[in-house]
Amino acid sequence: MSRVYNFSAGPAVLPEEVLREAADEMLDYQGSGMSVMEMSHRSKTYDNIIKEAEKDLRDIMNIPDNYKVLFLQGGASQQFAMIPMNLMKNKVADYIITGQWAKKAWKEAQIYGKANAIASSEDKTFSYIPDCSDLPISEDADYVYICENNTIYGTKFKTLPNTKGKTLVADVSSCFLSEPVDVTKYGLIYGGVQKNVGPAGVVIVIIREDLITEDTLPMTPTMLKYKTHADADSLYNTPPAYGIYICGKVFKWIKKMGGLSKMKEINEKKAKILYDFLDGSKLFKGTVEKDSRSLMNVPFVTGNEELDAKFVKEAAAEGLVSLKGHRTVGGMRASIYNAMPIEGVEKLVEFMKKFEKENG
Ligand SMILES: *Cc1c(COP(=O)(O)O)cnc(C)c1O
Repeated sequence: MSRVYNFSAGPAVLPEEVLREAADEMLDYQGSGMSVMEMSHRSKTYDNIIKEAEKDLRDIMNIPDNYKVLFLQGGASQQFAMIPMNLMKNKVADYIITGQWAKKAWKEAQIYGKANAIASSEDKTFSYIPDCSDLPISEDADYVYICENNTIYGTKFKTLPNTKGKTLVADVSSCFLSEPVDVTKYGLIYGGVQKNVGPAGVVIVIIREDLITEDTLPMTPTMLKYKTHADADSLYNTPPAYGIYICGKVFKWIKKMGGLSKMKEINEKKAKILYDFLDGSKLFKGTVEKDSRSLMNVPFVTGNEELDAKFVKEAAAEGLVSLKGHRTVGGMRASIYNAMPIEGVEKLVEFMKKFEKENG
């Protein structure tokens, strides 16, 4: 067996320790004589798994008691509709457009009400986060929406927008659990877990209780009401049971590593290695404005498409895989999530130096 350094944006690298543990428990989960995959979601054993996962997540993120944690399906994209269906009481919401995921969410919201784009960084191919200190927030906005870390473009909000008292809703798919977060600043935080937390198939929603109501838009399906899942503690129907079990293991791994402030410290160290090299390189260039740089997704280019392709191919031969940029932007992107070891980033930079010498 040989594992590669996997720089995929998602589904992405998971802690090897977690995978090994899951492998050990595959045929017989803690004496139950069965795999978690085979287990009733109504069993006591599974109930313990999901409860413990929620408890550990609450500990790590310091989630206040007046927030619910929901383990749902449908990926992050399902939330693009679920958010307006549940929160658009006045049928007005303000969106900050910092990339394709924010744009998709904004387009989806237009089906349900008036979704205003109150700021955008599309003028410079989403290479920065706009100044959000004094935006024209709509007086009757039900919420202000951001995509906090832009997976494709490699930008991250360093300060949250001034929502002028309106509820903040954030897609944190690609920065979930990468650093400490003050949950009280948000009404709703959500993320597909396949970027930084677990296997695809689970989306976690952290939502303030007063936002969970029966008063959803007409025709909202039962399955798409937060209340349905909140009332049933995420067990209204069969949840993505195995995926939640793996997420639970990742939460324990993060705890053991020292929690979110430690994750941030390690993530900053990893990102610095790569950004410092990019800033000094004659061949490679980062594509993002410095003060908007993501710790998780690092896009870069050589400025020559053929050379980019050559780099991606030769890197893969060295066990540094999935470095190709998103299909819509080209170039390269190194996603260096929590589970990417520092050695992976060091290896990558070493290889970039060698490539630069040979092709510079
Ligand atoms: C990947 C991603 C999505 C889409 O996730 P799905 O689970 O595939 O729907 C949405 N938002 C962000 C920020 C992402 O990185």
